[in-house]
Amino acid sequence: MGFLHGYPQRGRLAPSIIFDQLQESLVEIACLDLEGVLIPEIWINFAEKTGIEALKATTRDIPDYDVLMKQRLAILEREGYGLPDIQAVIDTLEPLPGAVEFVAWLRERFQVVILSDTFYEFAQPLMRKLGFPTLLCHKLVVDEQGKITDYQLRQRDPKRQSVIALHSLYYRVIATGDSYNDTSMLAEAEAGILFKAPDNVIAEFPQFPAVHSYEELKREFIKASERELSL
Ligand SMILES: [Mg+2]
Repeated sequence: MGFLHGYPQRGRLAPSIIFDQLQESLVEIACLDLEGVLIPEIWINFAEKTGIEALKATTRDIPDYDVLMKQRLAILEREGYGLPDIQAVIDTLEPLPGAVEFVAWLRERFQVVILSDTFYEFAQPLMRKLGFPTLLCHKLVVDEQGKITDYQLRQRDPKRQSVIALHSLYYRVIATGDSYNDTSMLAEAEAGILFKAPDNVIAEFPQFPAVHSYEELKREFIKASERELSL
């Protein structure tokens, strides 16, 4: 029974029957990590442009995102870099080869939401190149001089919490990501897929299939779907 044609009417059916009918009509949503899956790692690129080695650390190296961000902001402060400097580097970046086509393919078959630990202030130019899919991420606090003074994480464990929220809306979730900060999202989803993950993450989380190309990723999404989809 589909949402549109047979939406159960409250008052006529017992709650348990309503839930059973909704269970049958689950719509599938694809949750994607952003950096490392669709776009390059922003901080690594900024580190390369500025030659600051310590800025190359990512959640692959420091799993606690708060610790990682505090370290990054302290380095920016020490070296005298602000948001405009980082945005200038981001402007030169392109989505990973094949990412635009992959997102278009996925959006024809699933509702797509990007769950990222980046910041809206960083992501905007690259989201334009991806056709502005829905993005849930964090916000920076920036002063008038462009100095990043702080950051506002949307909530604790945001990727997993987003999947929980989508479940409360009766979505069935298939998720993909490349790093430690994705694994609670992958575990919460009905299906989780590692994409271009480093060997240590693949070894630590053998329960998730691990693929390295968009063609393989498409096949994993088709496999994880409960519908008859084709490439
Ligand atoms: Mg990532």
